[in-house]
Amino acid sequence: MAKATETPTAAKAATKRNRSAAETEKIRVALTERRDELQQEYDQSITELTELQRDRLADSAGDDDADTGTKTLEREQEITLANNLLERVNQVERAIDRLGEGNYGWCERCGNAIPVERLAAFPSATLCVSCKQLEERR
Ligand SMILES: [Zn+2]
Repeated sequence: MAKATETPTAAKAATKRNRSAAETEKIRVALTERRDELQQEYDQSITELTELQRDRLADSAGDDDADTGTKTLEREQEITLANNLLERVNQVERAIDRLGEGNYGWCERCGNAIPVERLAAFPSATLCVSCKQLEERR
């Protein structure tokens, strides 16, 4: 019984703010890939936006009000999407910067390392899975 409580405590202390260089590199690669993906999506949405704009200027003469309304809405949605993507690109870039300073990937609540897989999926994650679940339960 006494032995069971010993091990987890020791392991917890050892992992605290002590990520290996290989793991840091893994996170960096994951974040960089994520950044590139988002950047591509952003570029794509800017291209679509430009095309929408061109269409609007090219054939708006024959449009009735409903068409114009649909196109305006489409364009607004594209702009929102593009802004969101750009925000996410910036978020990942800030994460890469923080990683370089050694300030990234640690749970804000318990201070433990957030798993690489979680960081790759959610670059803005500031809590480990168990702390996140605790937060959500409240
Ligand atoms: Zn935590």
